[in-house]
Amino acid sequence: MTDWNSLIDDIVAGNWRTPETGAAAKVPFEAIRIEETLDGGEADMLAPLKLGKRLAVVSDANTHEAMGRRVAKHLKGLAAVEEIVLPGDLECDEPTIAMVRERTRHADAVVAVGSGTLSDTCKYTTFKDGRKYAVFATAASMNGYAASTASVTLANGYKTSLPAHAPRGIFIDLKISATAPTWLSAAGLGDSLCRSTAQIDWWASHRLFDTFYSSVPYALIANDEPAMLKSAADLAKHSVEANGRLHRVLTLCGLGVCFTGVSHHGSMGEHQVSHWLDMFAGSAHPGTTHGQQVGVASLAIARLQCELLALDQPPDIRPTHIVETEFVARYGEAIGRMCYAEAKKKSFDRTGAAAFNEKLRALWPELRQELGSFVMDPVAMQSTLAAAGGPTTATELGLSRKLWRDAMKYARDVRNRWSFLDLADDAGLLDDFLARDRQ
Ligand SMILES: [Zn+2]
Repeated sequence: MTDWNSLIDDIVAGNWRTPETGAAAKVPFEAIRIEETLDGGEADMLAPLKLGKRLAVVSDANTHEAMGRRVAKHLKGLAAVEEIVLPGDLECDEPTIAMVRERTRHADAVVAVGSGTLSDTCKYTTFKDGRKYAVFATAASMNGYAASTASVTLANGYKTSLPAHAPRGIFIDLKISATAPTWLSAAGLGDSLCRSTAQIDWWASHRLFDTFYSSVPYALIANDEPAMLKSAADLAKHSVEANGRLHRVLTLCGLGVCFTGVSHHGSMGEHQVSHWLDMFAGSAHPGTTHGQQVGVASLAIARLQCELLALDQPPDIRPTHIVETEFVARYGEAIGRMCYAEAKKKSFDRTGAAAFNEKLRALWPELRQELGSFVMDPVAMQSTLAAAGGPTTATELGLSRKLWRDAMKYARDVRNRWSFLDLADDAGLLDDFLARDRQ
């Protein structure tokens, strides 16, 4: 029988030390359990966390059926339980957070039963009022369960990752995840495929600008990534085994943050594309989820990176075209100025561009070789994602070509994290790439 918790147990217990510094992780949670089933064990698992006498079990219309009702039933021996079922199609925004705060106000702690948005809403709500929470994951749809940040949409529409807190416990029932609609696990796979694109962006940034980099998050998943990729097609068949492989990579990826304090190892250019879509696509983006967007963006960025890395001579950049009034015209007054301030920090003026070109030219042969070891073949990535049932193009995501090109072109606006999107656009190569890339 597979031990789904190997390595994860050691990290949570503080027994795994990094090869880089010999340090253990600062793990904010007390328990992570991945089991083929948790049915009946819910109270035993939650008891050591001492969450309090009154628990609010929060699910939504979909996850209540799948698992929420069962968790609530089994926790009744442990505490007074109030079941709260939120509507489906939630957004983690201020009105939703206020509603969850109001509806859970009598509880000492919150037990979330769900995935992305529901988990983030409970996370952020309890962070704001200082209560504890734990999560029962219902799908392998993203790697954010273990993150101490929450993805929140502000009142002005700006979607951002805000500091929050980590769950006391994360409990993953593989049979439940395997039963969930397969587009959810395909989305989780999409979110995992960014390992290579993010590593290339992050390492290149480290070498070119001396920014912080750590190999620890990649060492954590190195043994698990191949098995996850190999079993990806079985996600489409509701395989428990494939869901376990995927949950391990998602969880270990989340644990990377406990060693570095930053999310860069799994969130670079491809995530900026996803954030841009969430923030600006509006009704032109028909409810696609984070992992689906990241999957498609990872494939496109992998193709772009491969193209640039195939060049014997590095691209030459020009001073960055960055004009505040254009940001305001694109995004409106408030968000336009926020994005401009972020993007301005990584932009190049004439002198900066010249210095960058000089550095890149000197470093290029070495850098290409270093980055080569992080590359995943974009064609293989695509067939893996397709086999799992995930969308692999903007068209399959239901996005127009124009919207997709804008997302890829302007994704660099939303965050001060330099990536190959910045390199390609400053070098004047991005428009041409987007005109002929798969969409
Ligand atoms: Zn992600």
